[in-house]
Amino acid sequence: MSAMEDILKLERVSKFFERGFLRKVRIYAVNDVSLSLGDGEVVALVGESGCGKTTLGKMAAGLIRPSEGRVLWLGKDVWRMSKDEYSKYRPLVQVIHQDPYASLNPARTVYQTLSAPIVRYGLAKGKKEVTERVKELLSYVGLTPPKYFLNKYPHHLSGGMKQRLSIARAIIPRPKVIIADEPISMVDMSLRLSVLDLLKRLNKELGIAFLFISHELASARYFAREGRTAIMYLGHIVEVGGTEELLNNPLHPYLRAILSAMPLPDPKLARRRRLLPLKSLELPSLMELPKGCPFNTRCPYAKDVCVKERPELTPKSEGHLVACHLVDELPEWKPPWA
Ligand code: ATP
Repeated sequence: MSAMEDILKLERVSKFFERGFLRKVRIYAVNDVSLSLGDGEVVALVGESGCGKTTLGKMAAGLIRPSEGRVLWLGKDVWRMSKDEYSKYRPLVQVIHQDPYASLNPARTVYQTLSAPIVRYGLAKGKKEVTERVKELLSYVGLTPPKYFLNKYPHHLSGGMKQRLSIARAIIPRPKVIIADEPISMVDMSLRLSVLDLLKRLNKELGIAFLFISHELASARYFAREGRTAIMYLGHIVEVGGTEELLNNPLHPYLRAILSAMPLPDPKLARRRRLLPLKSLELPSLMELPKGCPFNTRCPYAKDVCVKERPELTPKSEGHLVACHLVDELPEWKPPWA
């Protein structure tokens, strides 16, 4: 599913959790998802809250084991690696979390937070050299002048600064991939773009590939403009393709529905908006997942086949895949900007 050489591959992965006490119910947070990440590639994963993005990200990072399917790193099943192979692979896939405060140790200064992994990975010896590396990292992520930050604790830093610190920590082992899980949702509005630009620099200058997880399309579009975007709905990927192609030629009724409801600052464009009349506004529960296509309970076009059979993700054009039985008979629909 990507043109570049794949380094990370999710092969038909599912993850279910069991809920309930007397009667256990399986809920599939991620359901039969295949997705790959090429060397240096940027892929955005977009979906509503609770659709399984974080669970998918954790599986991609090798942090939780899929219930079904495989996670491959350079062709090797992560969960069948030897201890030695696993310890070499783990640092190469880093995660940046939504809440930088929760991922930083509140009792450690900035210096301690960064120097510990520098020493652990053998990247510098002696206090002087370690301090130089820490300062270099702080400058790179925009925490300047670095000297000012060395003895600060996380609670002294703003949300944006904390996220920059966790980004600095994530790049220490020179990762090949970063899973960025809603990295700007807890950053002040005015600073969000600068954090996204910093992440973009890591991709351009250090060649780090990104799985960028977001619940809204606008930041995915900004971050993954030259890459791909995958749209997730109730644990499934329903459409994936080059970001611009996807946003200009959306095929799946769910993607069309999100795009038709997107706020548009330009009144001329807003007037051209064609809302998709959904059958229901309610998101079904993962505990009572609809049979067939997961979107059939809301889709205005759903037919019998959509209720009976789950559609497979199928190529419609080069690199643009969609999981919809009716894709060839859907009415023409374009977003206002296309
Ligand atoms: P959000 O954007 O709100 O973080 P998400 O799209 O990242 O949502 P997940 O956090 O992956 O979604 O959760 C998907 C579903 O799986 C949710 O219903 C969640 O409650 C459930 N889930 C996730 N982790 C667990 C767990 N450890 N045990 C039980 N259920 C879980």
